[in-house]
Amino acid sequence: MIVGIPKEVKRDEYRVAILPVGAEEFVRAGHQVIIEKDSGIGSGLTNEQYVEAGATLVDSAEEVFAQADMILKVKEPQPEEYALIRKGQIVFTYFHFAASVQLTQGMIDSGAICLAYETLRDQRGTLPLLTPMSEVAGRMSIQEGAKYLEKPQMGQGILLGGVPGVAPAHITILGGGIVGANAAKIAAGFNADVNILDISMDRLRYLDDVMPPNVNVLFSDRHVIRHQLQLADLVVGAVLIPGAKAPMLVSREDLKLMKPGSVIIDVAVDQGGCIETSHPTTHSDPTYLIDDVLHYCVANMPGAVGRTSTFALCNVTLPWALRVAKNGIDASLASSPELQTALNIHTGRVTNKPVADTFDLPY
Ligand code: NAD
Repeated sequence: MIVGIPKEVKRDEYRVAILPVGAEEFVRAGHQVIIEKDSGIGSGLTNEQYVEAGATLVDSAEEVFAQADMILKVKEPQPEEYALIRKGQIVFTYFHFAASVQLTQGMIDSGAICLAYETLRDQRGTLPLLTPMSEVAGRMSIQEGAKYLEKPQMGQGILLGGVPGVAPAHITILGGGIVGANAAKIAAGFNADVNILDISMDRLRYLDDVMPPNVNVLFSDRHVIRHQLQLADLVVGAVLIPGAKAPMLVSREDLKLMKPGSVIIDVAVDQGGCIETSHPTTHSDPTYLIDDVLHYCVANMPGAVGRTSTFALCNVTLPWALRVAKNGIDASLASSPELQTALNIHTGRVTNKPVADTFDLPY
């Protein structure tokens, strides 16, 4: 199979979908790898490293899309890439279809076979290709929150950990999954007053067992959320209903409960966001103010720490991509219930129910 890696074109995206060692693995297995030149530069990976690994460098994305049987990417195809995708071509990447009707329609029209990292579910029921990026984004949410709570960044001027004699910041984390748990772990290390809200009692019990004493776990309902908003200096949005649009937990009206200069980091913005006033932003222009509450809603947070994220992502995607290359798409889908869960669109037909339901499309 010819495996193609175009350079990521989404703004401020520095990741690449394959490591040199991954290219070497494909070549060793008898496949061909073509990669657009400079794809790895943002992650500190040189063209020479890919060539040494046996990949073929090409000058343009057009050449990659024209030749490859399977495209490996990081972010969802951008509008300028839609027309390059060929009917029957496998595209294996993060899609987050529920957040964009334009992307969904674009991929239906392209006739591509869309395997989404974010919906691939393993036999334990976890989302192994989403997990590393959620780990990065969760840890990063506290780093960003700490920065934007500083006065020159329009925050309240609060140090997360406080100091002896002065209270630490109150942090409310909506959703205690991978993002939430990683955010809580880092926030706890800062000595902040951390509160995780979730609707899964099993998850709350687990978090209660493993988290340090400055982390409280609370059942998430309207009253608890509204009370937390009054106390919070930093709110992290980290809920997920896999494949579906994020549930809206904080309305515009609710913002009035929050302190001026408090900060919301809505990590869930890639699935539409769990705050009514969230809309996607970029690393070059990450924040905006609504009702004196600073919103940070970068949809590709891990892109900013491209090197860490590229290694974390490729470590988990490579075995699945190798499997598809080895068996071809039909046999791979037939033999792997996990890969079936990754399939969101197959040659014009939506095959993921939450995506179909979101846009009222036939399933
Ligand atoms: P996860 O499935 O591990 O955790 C989600 C948690 O939300 C679950 O524990 C679930 O019980 C909980 N939940 C669902 N509905 C809830 C509600 N009403 N109230 C409280 N909790 C609720 O998911 P994750 O891996 O932690 O990802 C969370 C979100 O972060 C996803 O939307 C994911 O796509 C996104 N994400 C964004 C970026 C970014 O760059 N912005 C990066 C990685 C992940």
